[in-house]
Amino acid sequence: MRPRRLSAAWVIPMSGPPIRNGAVLIGADGRIQAVGAQGDVPRLADAEESAWPAAALIPGLVNTHTHLELTGFSDLAAEEEFPAWIRRIRTLKAERAPADFLAAARAGLAICHAAGVTTVADTGDSGAVIEALAEAGGSGIAYHEVFGPHPDQLPESLAGLQQRVTELRRFASARVRLGVSPHAPYTVSAGLYAAVAHYAEREGLPMAVHLAESEAESELLHEASGPFAEAWKVRGIPLPPLPGRSPVAWLDAHGVLGERTLAIHVVQAGPDDVARLVQSRTAVAHCPGSNRRHGHGAAPLAAFLEAGLRVGVGTDSVASVGALDLLGEARAARALAGLSAERALSLATRGAALALGLGEEVGTLRQGLWGDVAVVAIPAEGAPEAALEAVLASAPGDVEETTIGGRAVYRR
Ligand SMILES: [Zn+2]
Repeated sequence: MRPRRLSAAWVIPMSGPPIRNGAVLIGADGRIQAVGAQGDVPRLADAEESAWPAAALIPGLVNTHTHLELTGFSDLAAEEEFPAWIRRIRTLKAERAPADFLAAARAGLAICHAAGVTTVADTGDSGAVIEALAEAGGSGIAYHEVFGPHPDQLPESLAGLQQRVTELRRFASARVRLGVSPHAPYTVSAGLYAAVAHYAEREGLPMAVHLAESEAESELLHEASGPFAEAWKVRGIPLPPLPGRSPVAWLDAHGVLGERTLAIHVVQAGPDDVARLVQSRTAVAHCPGSNRRHGHGAAPLAAFLEAGLRVGVGTDSVASVGALDLLGEARAARALAGLSAERALSLATRGAALALGLGEEVGTLRQGLWGDVAVVAIPAEGAPEAALEAVLASAPGDVEETTIGGRAVYRR
């Protein structure tokens, strides 16, 4: 690959203030060599030059929660009640063949790239997303899901997960990582949580969990009642012991929380839960659009940020939110927690990368990090604060080019 020198009216590195008339130099190894004002970034004889007079160069966006294997399901799950919606998704997935999942994952990844998203943290159980990431030269973490609410399912569920992890490892690389995801407290037994947490620890695998999302989940763990408890009774699954616990406390008790764990949603959480997340150094994927769509309520985002938790925004799947718009999620986060434009944008860049443990790889434009850049059309004139506001206000269609490791994966 030839080195690339990108220049634009603005460079917004997210590791410092916006730079007017700036440039980014990406070396032949795909890593950033220099970032700064035009005059401070070297011009190499062999570099390919691209210039955008009315745009900003920003770090490639980082989406902390997707289900790209569900691409195409946007209008197919209209159920209002969350447990019924979950059942509907399961039925839709059962109708898809492996080749359909791969086609969906490829299409979903292309949509992400076209919207300036360069890194995805994806959960799924088809294995299609890590394959799509590998073949596209993408960046991300594919967390392989495991299910099994009945304690008797533990050996089979765990063995199945371990087998899939072994098979899928061939797609993993420096930029495409494999993780595991014990799905959610209403689909995973206490024993399976503990066993998967132990396995992830031993193998050094990152972990993602849907956690404290619905009131029905809290009812199940707290009072052994509600729609999930009713469904468990019908299936002969033993209910959680009483007195109950909050979902966050439940996972903590089974060794699931930790620095390499990403807790997705975390809506039903009080001060004690936030303290547990802080103490265990667990990161949070905040999905305001999905939380609103399913009527879960609003996550205590301001409390998360005040407590110093690592937080990124995520879109969740098209089956929840219709269309993926990560900066729309950042704007919703801003409205929810009263954030500055810079702080909101960080939830889709720097903060999101830190939440995934990738802060030294992506999320900012800085020397040594991967040359992952999104070029977003914005007005050239105005103050630095206006440039930040314009980027945050932009739509997926405003992206001119997306580059991963110096290689353009999308051009408008
Ligand atoms: Zn999800």
